[in-house]
Amino acid sequence: MNFIKHVANSRNIKVYCDDNEAIKKALGNTDFYKNGQLSADGYAVDYHNLENPIVLFKREADKEKRRFTIAHELGHIFAGHLSFEDSKGNSDLRELEASMIGAVLFGLSIYEEYKNSQAEEGVLA
Ligand SMILES: [Zn+2]
Repeated sequence: MNFIKHVANSRNIKVYCDDNEAIKKALGNTDFYKNGQLSADGYAVDYHNLENPIVLFKREADKEKRRFTIAHELGHIFAGHLSFEDSKGNSDLRELEASMIGAVLFGLSIYEEYKNSQAEEGVLA
């Protein structure tokens, strides 16, 4: 997860859990939430009362699901899907693009963990 958070931080993209109170206050009355629960596994959000795009994810999902969701949502941001022009058109294509970028980030994140674990064991030292 650290690699993905680093990528998000490098672009000033904050990553929030769906139960973050400030975010719930800002977005709780929008389509992003239904009955106090996030309406999807995750969202990339560029909302008028937020400074930068954010990524939202469900805390209740397991670790790897959360990691892929965050990577996928970053993919939407990096692919420019949050701009009005790019939000029109083929949503299947947008989802595919986000997942392709997300898969790369997810893979690099797994690789970083592997590399760190090898270093801890002295294999790569
Ligand atoms: Zn998506």
